[in-house]
Amino acid sequence: MTFATLGLIEPLLRALETLGYQTPTPVQAQAIPAVLAGRDLMAAAQTGTGKTAGFALPLLQLLTLEGPKVAANSARALILCPTRELAEQVHASVAEYAQHLPLTTYAVYGGVSINPQMMKLRKGVDILVATPGRLIDLFRQNALKLNQLQTLVLDEADRMLDLGFSEELANIYRMLPKKRQTLLFSATFSDDIRLLAGQMLNDPLSIEVSPRNVAANTVKQWVVPVDKKRKPELFVHLMRKGRWKQVLVFAKTRNGVDALVDKLQGLGVNADGIHGDKPQATRQRALDRFKTSDVQILVATDVAARGLDIEDLPLVVNFDLPIVAEDYIHRIGRTGRAGNTGEAISLVCADEVNMLSAIEMLTRQTLTRKMEPEFEPEHRVPDTDASGQVVKKPKKPKKPKASGGGGKRNLGKWVDSGDVAPAEPSIKPVRKVPVFNTGPRKKK
Ligand code: AMP
Repeated sequence: MTFATLGLIEPLLRALETLGYQTPTPVQAQAIPAVLAGRDLMAAAQTGTGKTAGFALPLLQLLTLEGPKVAANSARALILCPTRELAEQVHASVAEYAQHLPLTTYAVYGGVSINPQMMKLRKGVDILVATPGRLIDLFRQNALKLNQLQTLVLDEADRMLDLGFSEELANIYRMLPKKRQTLLFSATFSDDIRLLAGQMLNDPLSIEVSPRNVAANTVKQWVVPVDKKRKPELFVHLMRKGRWKQVLVFAKTRNGVDALVDKLQGLGVNADGIHGDKPQATRQRALDRFKTSDVQILVATDVAARGLDIEDLPLVVNFDLPIVAEDYIHRIGRTGRAGNTGEAISLVCADEVNMLSAIEMLTRQTLTRKMEPEFEPEHRVPDTDASGQVVKKPKKPKKPKASGGGGKRNLGKWVDSGDVAPAEPSIKPVRKVPVFNTGPRKKK
């Protein structure tokens, strides 16, 4: 299959040729014809699957071939993204795909001055990429009208809800014209996402593309058990031992990012950090310098790093495990791309055992543990496996009462790895995407 057989117009094919895209990815093969046919879409696909081109190419084509010229302070298509970095990244891709088309594109997000954005919107833009909060601000200040909107894309919808944007999304929903095409992309489908989809989508086509790294054949993953307080020391030790060159490191909190970056910089290591407290320009600069290998170690929170496309990353380190198990897949998905092999190392302390268990259950694997000599933890990390069980260290059995005569049978109460009651998983397993009615589209 080629992009031409999917029905894309020549200026788009030319742009794809320049970018070196030869064959459509599975999500593109399914999404492009459906979007061109005007369908709403509910797609289970995450970064790395080529989903951006999956929605952007047909969207650009429809905007080029159909509809009136964009009016002042208006947008014809809106792509909503959870974070500023993602908005920038999606916009950069859209602009590349649109390079031979007579369309205007622009990205707006918070954390930077609103005035230049208001100025830019005066003439109207064909495709606007936005984060929810800033979009609402612009709308309320009358810098943006949405009555000309043809298409809405919700990118990483699950992450928008995780970040607490549900109220913003409800507000945006009320601002939208009833007649429009809506495309929803999400890595996971919780009840809330389904509710959102039920509200926003009209007879959607459901597409599911297995996340690239769930099987993680190309990513070698392992866990190093360690005491919490010794994690920084272990990180430096492993970095030196493994002569790490380009590493993306995930820490749980903003303070955690800053503390590790300070430590590394104090040792003369070329490290930088990105998290939500840093100004946008600083975040973007750190990321750009990491991509060009001017920064060797980039430490990030999940929010700042979600969805970022960094090519050929050899190593991802989870300095802390993510609170949400799905984020583990997103994190390790930054390595082992495009047929390359990658490594993902997680430093895990006893406090994180439930998170480890949830990750193993989600990815249906028991992660190999490698003890690092000199760093064996004093607080043992209980055994875990892909069933979601956490195996506590066996307690000493109570001595049978002399009169009870229970003998050996009473020992059955204690727990060992072969005989364990299933523990409640801390995180629900990912459900399959519901099958939606894919029948003929009703007239809107
Ligand atoms: P995405 O999942 O949209 O973030 O895309 C992931 C990466 O794959 C980006 O670097 C895209 O430029 C690249 N990409 C998307 N589609 C194709 C394709 N059909 N062929 C080659 N590379 C692609």
